[in-house]
Amino acid sequence: MKLRSVELSATVGHLSQLPTDGLPEIALAGRSNVGKSSLLNKLLNRRNLARVSNSPGKTRTLNFYRVNDLLYLVDLPGYGFAKRSPEERKQWGALVNGYVTDRESLKGIVQIVDSRHDPTADDLEMVRWLAYGDRPYLIVASKTDKLSNNQMNKQLPRAHRSIAEAAERTLEDTRIQPFSAVTGRGREDVWRWIGDTTHAGR
Ligand code: GDP
Repeated sequence: MKLRSVELSATVGHLSQLPTDGLPEIALAGRSNVGKSSLLNKLLNRRNLARVSNSPGKTRTLNFYRVNDLLYLVDLPGYGFAKRSPEERKQWGALVNGYVTDRESLKGIVQIVDSRHDPTADDLEMVRWLAYGDRPYLIVASKTDKLSNNQMNKQLPRAHRSIAEAAERTLEDTRIQPFSAVTGRGREDVWRWIGDTTHAGR
């Protein structure tokens, strides 16, 4: 994807504020601190467009990044942040569920997991939900630069197996895309998937 224009064009805290222009949307989901903002910045070639923070769980809005006036990348608030109050969890659930369940222009979901660890219970619940639904999804394993080749050869197949099991798919039918926001590994592959999924061209 050749980037001509990128802007944060909407921060949505309530479903009534969703964009109405009908452009295709790709949402990014993942546990807090998984590297979602870094992935977004890397995709968009921006250093600080999406907030990268060491205090996870801050973002509670759906952030719509408009790309080339062709599509939106939608940053979903991170899940699995233990310090959230029940009230905050409820709010998160209503906003995110309402958006991902009913949104017609949402064409696909990029689900990010941390390549260094086994997928968490929250990650696997998300995978089950994605596999159960009709929308295309891509699982991305972040922070691969933090692993040696040796560690990666052990850890990625483990994650692959548990994700395939949660999705009730064969390993062959379960794709995991390695990614690094530091080296740019996987960036082109993720863009290719986004382009194919939104039919927005490249
Ligand atoms: P978010 O909460 O999911 O948006 O996660 P962030 O993008 O804020 O990243 C959380 C932490 O992981 C930050 O300290 C990032 O610098 C770091 N991080 C994110 N992606 C990578 C990566 O690909 N490689 C390395 N080495 N660190 C990363």
